[in-house]
Amino acid sequence: MLPLYDAHAHLADSRLQDSLPAILQDCRAHGIKGILANAAHLSEWQAIAKLGEQPDIHPAIGLHPFFIDEWTDDCPARLEQALLATPSTSIGEIGLDAWTSRDELPKQKEILAAQLLVAKKHHRFVSLHNRRTWSDFFEVLKELRITELHGICHHFTGSPEIARKLLDLGLYLSFCGPVTYPDARRIHAAAVFAPSDRILSETDCPDLPPLPCKGQLSRPWHVQFVVETLAALRRISAPLMAEQIEQNWHALVFS
Ligand SMILES: [Zn+2]
Repeated sequence: MLPLYDAHAHLADSRLQDSLPAILQDCRAHGIKGILANAAHLSEWQAIAKLGEQPDIHPAIGLHPFFIDEWTDDCPARLEQALLATPSTSIGEIGLDAWTSRDELPKQKEILAAQLLVAKKHHRFVSLHNRRTWSDFFEVLKELRITELHGICHHFTGSPEIARKLLDLGLYLSFCGPVTYPDARRIHAAAVFAPSDRILSETDCPDLPPLPCKGQLSRPWHVQFVVETLAALRRISAPLMAEQIEQNWHALVFS
């Protein structure tokens, strides 16, 4: 059985709550050794902190760009308080999204900046979501004078040029279900380009199912299909791919 790491799952998502104990049991049965549990809503922070008490679950709290209406002025202070209470907690899922429109970008950028500043202040790594917003993201970093950033670019689909800039900042590139689709040429190119010491696997559970699970809600152990696809694209064995990801997970989470 391959040792598996899911660097981006939403274990506090309401769609999973009824079956969460069984899901966690199945994760262990399928060889899952580590999961980064991300919050999307503010209301999930507490559940994520609780999940983070389990040794193989690493907690990340933050506000996803889809839900910026939940943001209030006291959020940075609440985030800091939560980080101080649990030293292992990271910040995520945070970022920018202009998939449907750019109208909300000014507010998204403000909220991302506030969360990045908390991450920097407390030396925590970040779990980043960026869609059609790379130039905006780099602009935020420039304004904050951030030239180094420890964390993950979740569901990376950008060009080799964007990847280079992210790698230079110190970020990891993470791949999920869509990499398993045969026509995902841009993602395949990124998966080949990513250096072996900066690549991670994830599911975005319960979303983005890999090809063999199309139409289902994804589960953390579906990350196996991602690892196997990454291995095939990079022309190495699946055990070697899993081993590289394991090393990267440890470098990310424990450094
Ligand atoms: Zn996510």
